Amino acid sequence: MRLILLGPPGAGKGTQAKTLIEAYGIPQLSTGDILRTAIANKTPMGLMAKEIMDRGDLVSDDVVNGIVSERLDKDDCKPGFILDGFPRTIPQAEALDRMLGEKNMALDAVVEITADADELVSRIGKRAKESGTARGDDNEEVLRKRLEVYRQQTAPLVDYYRGRGLLKSVDGMQPVEDVTAAIRRVVAP
Ligand code: AMP
Repeated sequence: MRLILLGPPGAGKGTQAKTLIEAYGIPQLSTGDILRTAIANKTPMGLMAKEIMDRGDLVSDDVVNGIVSERLDKDDCKPGFILDGFPRTIPQAEALDRMLGEKNMALDAVVEITADADELVSRIGKRAKESGTARGDDNEEVLRKRLEVYRQQTAPLVDYYRGRGLLKSVDGMQPVEDVTAAIRRVVAP
């Protein structure tokens, strides 16, 4: 099973990816997590990405394309994978198409998790309070910026994948378990 989870920040992509890992026995590939690890380890890539992520912008296509291409070559991706947070731009989606073609892999589905922007602002506020962790991008001002970046740069992917017959949409405003059940229905009907 090769899936992409698409949706605005806070829609629940990460949460849903974690439940799908168990259901399908395939890894979650989160470019955000990989970048945060690079920041924590103070690698050159992390040092470059931190400021961009903290202000809610996107890291360059070349950097994230490289991360994903390398990650897809690992053995654990052979049975499939869940892409969470990638692609986020049309050029990234085109690069992914090329990568998958070269690796003889095909996507099974792109699941769009839809969500209401105001509800997302309140959810992220809760995540920041509950986790108490230092995700530099978990505050309202940066979230609004990230939602705008999503609208401009990532939302066009909905049509891109609809045109390829891969798009499935689920309502991300339902309780977490219902979203999970809806995703499982659309990816393996
Ligand atoms: P996420 O954890 O997916 O919400 O990503 C957190 C941040 O990491 C984003 O706001 C971007 O700054 C950066 N990032 C993650 N994935 C990508 C991507 N595919 N393209 C560009 N930037 C990304």
